[in-house]
Amino acid sequence: MAEPNDTSFDELFLAHPLPMWVYDLETLAFLAVNTAAVVHYGYSEAEFLALTIADLRPADELPRLYANLKSAPRDTFEKSGTWHHCTKEGALIDVEISSHPLLFHGRACKFVLAHDVTDRVQAQRKIARLNRVYALLSGINSAIVRIRDRDALFKEACRLATMEGGFVAASIDKAEAHGATLRNESHAGCALPARAALLDSGWIATRAARERTPVVCNDIDTDGAMVPFCDHLAARGFRAVASFPLLVGERLEAVLTLVSDTPHVFDADELKVLNELAGDLSFALLFLDREEQLSYMAYYDVMTALPNRRLFQDRLAQLLHAGSHPLLGVALINLDRFAQLNDALGRHAGDALLVQIAQRLGACLPDAYNLARIGGDTFALTLAELARGEDAAEVLQQAVFGALDQPFELDGHDVRISTRAGLALYPADGADAETLFKHAEAALKNAKSSGERYLYYAPRMNAALAARMALEHALQTALEEHQFEMYYQPRVDLVSGAVVSAEALIRWNHPERGVVGPIDFIALAEETGLIRPIGAWVIDAVCAQQKAWQDSGAAIVPVAINLSAVQCMQAELLNMIAGTMAAYGLEQRFIEFELTETAVMDNPDEAARNLRALKALGVQLSLDDFGTGYSSLAQLKRFPFDFVKIDRSFISGVGSNAGDEAIAAAIIAMAHSMGLKVVAEGVETDAQLAVMRTLACDEMQGFLFSKALPAGEFEALVRSGRHL
Ligand code: C2E
Ligand code: CA
Ligand code: CA
Repeated sequence: MAEPNDTSFDELFLAHPLPMWVYDLETLAFLAVNTAAVVHYGYSEAEFLALTIADLRPADELPRLYANLKSAPRDTFEKSGTWHHCTKEGALIDVEISSHPLLFHGRACKFVLAHDVTDRVQAQRKIARLNRVYALLSGINSAIVRIRDRDALFKEACRLATMEGGFVAASIDKAEAHGATLRNESHAGCALPARAALLDSGWIATRAARERTPVVCNDIDTDGAMVPFCDHLAARGFRAVASFPLLVGERLEAVLTLVSDTPHVFDADELKVLNELAGDLSFALLFLDREEQLSYMAYYDVMTALPNRRLFQDRLAQLLHAGSHPLLGVALINLDRFAQLNDALGRHAGDALLVQIAQRLGACLPDAYNLARIGGDTFALTLAELARGEDAAEVLQQAVFGALDQPFELDGHDVRISTRAGLALYPADGADAETLFKHAEAALKNAKSSGERYLYYAPRMNAALAARMALEHALQTALEEHQFEMYYQPRVDLVSGAVVSAEALIRWNHPERGVVGPIDFIALAEETGLIRPIGAWVIDAVCAQQKAWQDSGAAIVPVAINLSAVQCMQAELLNMIAGTMAAYGLEQRFIEFELTETAVMDNPDEAARNLRALKALGVQLSLDDFGTGYSSLAQLKRFPFDFVKIDRSFISGVGSNAGDEAIAAAIIAMAHSMGLKVVAEGVETDAQLAVMRTLACDEMQGFLFSKALPAGEFEALVRSGRHL
């Protein structure tokens, strides 16, 4: 019984800070509304109660509303997603609706909570838009580097603005030689209405041309200056226009105009990016101008038709100016003993060889590499698609040396040449084209004198590269000479305390360094692709071991094998697994696989397909290291996992860090609600174990019970029947 002064449930309803109401499921009329709803929607309580829920909806959402009313569950709590509501003033707000059916004065009703999420939805839209504009900027910058023709560049910029930038129409109007009369030149999104929109908004472009500054109209409906065109434009759904003058020095070259279907898109953030974009286009025009003025020969090598040193450096400078590449490489490639070859075969054969080299490199490298012949027997490349400095060496090895190491045919003879290279990286080795080029030359000189195939300018890069290559080589040897061994770490059931399965963990018995853990070599194996043969060896070794245990009558438990993301992309993985298990005649239930969320989230559709196929083999699947990535358990629902392994980093905080413990508790509750079992990884203390037990975690794995053991010791442990 409530005390006389206690708040009643009615009062709680009225005073609740979020808008709430009850409506009749037959008539859709409101039967009760709380104060927050009255305030938020602007109606008086009496006005509100005279409405039906359909009155809150914009007309175009009514079909969805009626469909939802038909299909919605009549007996349980429901979250029906985000809707639009109109306030009395006519403003449109985004609301998230949660509802629960109930009987109210004997009538079938719904109790509704309406959470206004307009701010959040708008922020999300803005982020999505800005991402599109950044994609546009980077697309245009790569067009600037690639395209040498002004009209083609304009056309591509307009195409990108509509395709990447999400604008409904775009044009670049060239300025007439004198004055600011505009000629409409390049369009995109040129369905008829879009073209008309551009003509109608031409007024804005003209003003931008005259005033030499960007002109923006953020809402055609309300901008007085747009009155003459407003009906035309608004009727087609065009809502905002902006024009940007493209200036080379003082001279107006053209005007870029963008039309959007969303009012107020041209806010400060967006304009900043678009101004930058206009600046980049203007800068490109400056270079195109210069190119047009100078003769072909000043910029090209006539013999190979490749750009010469000057053009190479100019383009490199443009690329650096565009600023769209945080990391760039310059490679210079030189032939060994070209002079002797000229002497031996004759000058004409030497020239023919250079032409063939140019053709071969041109064929194997995309345009973006800016291939050039920069001197007698030296070629240059710009490496723009680098994620890490080491990737430059990769391109050299695979594309460049791969192509040049094949024999050339000269006058009916097969001729092999040897080449060397020098590499310089932006920004580490230089901030401008000239410095980078000079340092690439120095690196080439070092390579030639030291006899290396290629060298970086920075000694640090060379040392890192040498260490990597040594490790790669050693891993190859390890595979050939059977230096790998599988260890087994038991997994224990937290109720029975018994060992119920194990995780197979690889170790490298290094002839000098002793036992090396996977942390020191798996990442490199993944980068180099060596993880494929190593991974195949692991699957084979574990199946062989399980079979041997089974044959010897040992009480075997399922063993989980780690699959790395690189392995998962392998098409033949499934066949290989099925084949190996069949070859050993091993029952599927004795093998499990562990995958991390990054392995599945990179390409979720394909991963879901592969995992279902893997599952169909009869093996169990665990989601490894959970909590370290970005995805939620709910997102992972689509994958057929049986277990979730909570990452060690959370377990180590349990008992000392309330946040970690809360996360672990939430993961366990969520996983259980989805029918998944939970394994706590890296349990090291009794305190952590106790917490995991309280949270109803299913299994544990960790040093508290046992570290990973060689096969023999693991078997002995299982045989001893040791319990937690
Ligand atoms: P993982 O899959 O998360 O494996 C668990 C790691 O945690 C193992 O390290 C294990 O020894 C360690 N561990 C287990 N209990 C405890 C504990 O209580 N405290 C602490 N501090 N550590 C604990 P390990 O063997 O060094 O393996 C490291 C990682 O290397 C593995 O992480 C896995 O991602 C990878 N890896 C190991 N073997 C293979 C393999 O055969 N194939 C692939 N692709 N990756 C493997
Ligand atoms: Ca694992
Ligand atoms: Ca793990």
